Amino acid sequence: MNKIIIAIDGFSSTGKSTIAKQLAKALNYVYVDTGAMYRAITYFAIENQLIGSEFFDSDKLVSRLDEINITFQFNEELGFAEVYLNDKNIEKEIRTLKVSKYVSPVAAISEVRQKLVQQQQLMGIDKGIVMDGRDIGTVVFPDAELKVFMTASAETRAKRRYKELLDRGHNLVYEDVLENVTTRDRIDSTREDSPLVKAEGAVEIDNSDLTIEAQIEMLLNLVNDMQ
Ligand code: C5P
Repeated sequence: MNKIIIAIDGFSSTGKSTIAKQLAKALNYVYVDTGAMYRAITYFAIENQLIGSEFFDSDKLVSRLDEINITFQFNEELGFAEVYLNDKNIEKEIRTLKVSKYVSPVAAISEVRQKLVQQQQLMGIDKGIVMDGRDIGTVVFPDAELKVFMTASAETRAKRRYKELLDRGHNLVYEDVLENVTTRDRIDSTREDSPLVKAEGAVEIDNSDLTIEAQIEMLLNLVNDMQ
């Protein structure tokens, strides 16, 4: 079977990564979580005091982008690739509400996007890849063989994210998670460079009431129909 590129885009916490990860496993494809890459740059900015509640030195961040090296390493035990910033595993550090709070302004910077899009395109050169994000079907792989756009109501998504963070041991308030999800969607959808929009030809899936298994089956059928 010919390997293809599968681009999955959608709003925050639509379960893109869960679906993308399982789909990649079923097809024996590589899975790439591009949100983790934007989060890694945001983590770098926080650690270097370039962004905080009252400030964001975006020029300084742009001037230091060459110091940032993002890689993925497959973790056999977990069954997926973890993200590394300059050889340090930061998988846990990037999943906090603090990083979620600052990631969308960081992701709106064109120089940040250029750096990451270039790296993402190289990752897909041999195809056989499932990549999820906000601009995969529109900018990174506009010629992807299969494009998916995932949606769900804001409340459904915030509840999912809240549960996920609680399960990971974070102490937080549901309203803060809902506010973060809606704010990120607004910034991601209205930014000038590569706003989040449904790509031409993308299959839209509202998964508010769909199980993970049903979504995987749906997508595997779409892939099989293409072969
Ligand atoms: O997917 P995740 O929620 O981890 O993404 C975090 C943030 O990274 C998004 O809210 C968005 O601002 C940014 N992002 C992006 N383009 C992508 C992936 C993520 O702008 N391809």
